[in-house]
Parts: sequence; C-alpha cells; structure tokens
Amino acid sequence: MRPFRSRLTLIMLLLVGISVLAAGLTMAKVFRDSHISSLEEYMAREINLLEDMLELPAAPAEGENLPLVFENEAKRLAALTDSRVTFVAKDGRVLGDSQSKPGLMDNHLNREEIRDARPGVPGHAVRYSETLGRDMLYVAAPIVSSGGFEGYVRLSMSLAIVEEGLQRGWVIMGTALAILFLIAALISYRIARGLTRPIEHIMETANRISKLDYDARVGSMGRDEIGQLGASIDNMADSLQTQMHTIRDNESLLQNVLDNMTGGIIMIDENEKIGLVNRQAERMLGVRADRIVGRSYTELKRFYDLTKFIREGLQHKARTHDELSLFVPEEKLIALDGVPMTIQDDSYHGMLFLFQDVSDIRRLERMRSEFVANVSHELKTPVAAVQGFAETLLAGGVKDEETARSFLKIIYDEGDRLNRLIGDILDLSKIESRRIQLDYAPVHMLTLFQSVSKVLEGAAEQKRIEIRLDVPEELFIEADEDRLRQIFINLVGNGVSYTPEGGRIIIKADEFMDEEYESERIRFSVSDNGIGIPKKDLPRIFERFYRVDKARSRSSGGTGLGLSIVKHLVELHRGTISVESEVGSGSTFMVELPVLQENP
Ligand code: ADP
Repeated sequence: MRPFRSRLTLIMLLLVGISVLAAGLTMAKVFRDSHISSLEEYMAREINLLEDMLELPAAPAEGENLPLVFENEAKRLAALTDSRVTFVAKDGRVLGDSQSKPGLMDNHLNREEIRDARPGVPGHAVRYSETLGRDMLYVAAPIVSSGGFEGYVRLSMSLAIVEEGLQRGWVIMGTALAILFLIAALISYRIARGLTRPIEHIMETANRISKLDYDARVGSMGRDEIGQLGASIDNMADSLQTQMHTIRDNESLLQNVLDNMTGGIIMIDENEKIGLVNRQAERMLGVRADRIVGRSYTELKRFYDLTKFIREGLQHKARTHDELSLFVPEEKLIALDGVPMTIQDDSYHGMLFLFQDVSDIRRLERMRSEFVANVSHELKTPVAAVQGFAETLLAGGVKDEETARSFLKIIYDEGDRLNRLIGDILDLSKIESRRIQLDYAPVHMLTLFQSVSKVLEGAAEQKRIEIRLDVPEELFIEADEDRLRQIFINLVGNGVSYTPEGGRIIIKADEFMDEEYESERIRFSVSDNGIGIPKKDLPRIFERFYRVDKARSRSSGGTGLGLSIVKHLVELHRGTISVESEVGSGSTFMVELPVLQENP
C-alpha cells in the first residue's frame, strides 16, 4: 500500500480505536457506578426496614462484657438480607458482626461510611476488604432501636456480582468493539483510498509527463482542490506539448536547412565535443554523424590537418580560415572556416566549422589557366612561322621566284591555320560556356551524310579514299543540322586525315530502342582502316589540344580541337561518344543520339 494511504488509514484506525476504547471505558464506569448506587439504595432501604424490626438492648458500657445478642442478631439478619451485618456503638465499638468476632475488630468510628452516616442520609463506601480479600460496598445508617440501642447498623456486600456483570459486559462489549473496529478499519481504508486515489492518479500522470509522455492527461476530476490540481497539471501538459511541438518543428526546420546546405557543418561545443554534423559534412568526410556526435573532435584524427585546424580554432576562439586537401578517398580541396559561437549574453559556446568543397572551382581555375597557356603556345607557332618567312623575304635574301613563292605559300598556309585555330578556339569556348543556342529541326540523315561526303570529297579523292554510306533512307533525327554536320565533318575528316592512301571510310547508322533511356536512339559509327590510335592515348583524345602525334597532326592541318568540339556538341544533343581503335588496323568512332529531343 502507498505510504500516504496507509498512514491515513492508520490515523483513522487509531482515532476509531481511541474513541471506541473511551466509549467502552465510560460505559463500564457508568455501568459500575449505577450498579453500585442502586445497590446502595437497596441496602439503605433494607436498613430502614431493619430499624423497625430490631429490638436490641442498649450498648453495654465500655469494658463490660458484650452480650451475645448483638452477634446472634447480626447473623440472623445476615441470613435474611444475604449481606454482612455489623452493629456499631455510637462511640465506634463493634458490638456484633455476622462474620467476625467483634472483640477482634477495631474501632469503626473513622470508617468512611460511619463518619458520613446521619439520620436519613446513610453513609457509604467502596473499599477493599483485607479480611475478605475483595472489593466490598459498605452502607451504614444511625438507628434507634425499640430495645434501647442507639448506634449504627452497617450492611456490606461483596461487589463480586458487579464485577462479574462488568466482566460479562466487557466480553460483549469487547466483541462488539472488535467487530466495530474491523468495520471501521474497512471504512477508513475505503475512505483513505477514495482520498488518495485521485492524488495517486495525478502523481502517475505527472510521472508520465516527466518521462516525456506528453500525451498523458489527468482528465476531469471534479471541482474540488484536487480536481483543480488535476486541471492545472493538464494545462501544464498542454502548454508543454505545444512548446515541444514548436521546438520539434523548429528543430526539423533547422535540420532541413542544415541537411540541404551545399556546405558541410561541424559544431564543436565548449567541452571540445562534437555537437552537430550535417549531411554534407558526413558526405565530405565519409563519416556518420550518429557515430561521432557527442564524442571528442579527436575522433576525426585520421584527417590530421583538419583536427589540427580545429584544435587551433578551439584554442584561439576566433575566426579562422584555411584550405586543406582531404583524401576521402580521392583528393578533395576543402575551404574551411571556423567561427566562434556566442549565445545571447556573448558567452562562448564552442566553434562552428564550415566546409566548402572547392575542388571543382580550383580545377576549373587551373583548367582555364592551362587553356590560356595552351592557346598562346598554339598561336605562337604559326605566328612565328609567318614572321620568320616574311622576315627572310623582306631581307631580300630570296632571289629566285620559285623559293619566294614557296615561302609565300607557307605564310599563306600558316595564316590559314591560324585562322582555323582561332575559329576553333572561339567555337569551343562558345560551346563550353553554353552560349550557343541549338536550333532543333528534323534532319534527313542520308542527305546530311551526302553533304558531308561532298565537303570532304576533294581531300578523299586526293588520297584515293573511298567514303561508303550505309545509312537507311528513312532515317530522320531531331537535331541542329549545322552542328550535326560539324560533328560528322570532324569525324570523317579525321578518318581521311589519319588513313593512308587507298583506304576506306564506312559511315553507318541504325535506330534502336534504348532500355536505359526508354527512348528511340540512333547509333552512328564512322570507321576507317587507317593508322589507329595507341591504347594509352585513347582516354585523352577528346581533350583540348591533345594530339597523338603532333607532327602528323600538324601536317594534316589539325588543330587538336576537333574531337573536343565534337564531344561537346554530342553532349549538347544529349548523346554519347566513344572510340575503339587498334594501331595499324583502324579506328571506329561511335555516336549515339536520341531520335527526339525532349523539352529542347
Ligand atoms: P586534330 O585536329 O589534330 O585532328 P582532333 O581533336 O580531331 O585533333 O583529334 C585528336 C587526335 O586524335 C589527333 O591528333 C589524332 O592523333 C587522333 N585521331 C583522331 N581521329 C583519328 C583517326 N580516325 N585515326 C587515328 N587517329 C585519330
């Protein structure tokens, strides 16, 4: 049982016990007193009757022999009244007694009952009798007998009957009391339970709320103080729940913001423990937030430079910035910012570290500067040639017209090359920066390839190279016709350039259903049986200015930009390009393009 309820029950039982006991004791006293007083009355009336019946002589003087008449009379009356009878002289001498020898008894003048006895008012006393060994009731009255006796007659009676009655009364009362007590115990338990139950219910609810069960409610419990307490707890739970909702909403909002940031965030608290890691930081570092949050930042020790940066930030508690390389697993360049966190009263609460992956930006920057370097280098060669030959001519050293013409031809060719180079560079930078607008329209493929062949006819015929078309008549594609032509002029042109005399080039086109894209696509292939490309160069031939053999490329008039432009144009058409080649037996360039451009 709960302590409060048991204490309440105990107190109520104690109260019931005490009151029942007090009632018992009072009842016993009343019972005894009324019994004794009715006995007294009864005995007084008997004495009155005796007074009239008695014919006793006057008491002998002191020192004289006591006549036996007193004793005999006492015994006779005792038999009649069923009590002890004593005759006492006026001076207190016992003259006769129904149970003792008067000579052995001391003077009775000072006995309470004798002292109090007056005519018409009998004296009485309850006393323990040593002679009889029990409580006795004594009633005495002064009498004047017709024989001349003047003194006291005393009746005494054992209180054993009273005690017996009392005892019986106690047994009955005790049983009744025990039953009463049991009933009282039951009732007081129920009352205590009735009182404590709502409190216990409130307590349970409060406990549930404190264990974060914000749905727990006391419910309606009446209008008394306990009911009001319950209502207050419910109100508190309501407001707690609302606040909790707001906090959770804010939290998930914040989490959303953190998770969708492009930068990574790690928060380290003032105890140097990791307090927060957002999704981007998890991705950048290849760690899991649930594994490291709550632990020391030194858990990140495998990133030596990073932990060093964090340690310095924590030491200085000031803004810091740095750029580090992380290997997760490939190298990443990360821009790191450390910001001290302060709350309201400007107290320091740790550091916030922001991560920005700048690998792409830096790579682009590097590519751009490399491009500029490449372009200048590429431009310098023809310019130097033009300058050199022009200088020689100007110096007037060349006399014969034949040589002069050949020099001028070189100057012209290099100028032409320079022109093409600049054209290609402009084209490429336009395509790369997505500044060109594709003009989609249905293109009849056979017609397109025929015009491509026409453009390259002259060069091909010079080398006796056959261009074979294996393109279905009904094939159409949605594309930017000029750009599509540019793609194939480049590919077929390369085939012509890098195939020895008497070779052949085959152009094929097939429509097919692509499972991955779930759309119709066309696969084109341009195959030659020329010199081929070494395996090691294959992955790089689509790079700008990359040439397998610089001298050969130069002699064929190549700029090293053709394939780079082709790749970009194919990708602009949402297509793919690949190459297969073997040195000495030829190369095949494969282009796959969608038949239709969705949302062009
Ligand atoms: P280029 O203007 O030098 O031809 P491209 O970008 O068109 O530049 O080609 C890059 C390099 O790829 C060429 O220099 C050449 O070495 C190689 N290449 C391209 N097409 C072929 C081919 N059909 N056969 C052999 N090599 C080729």
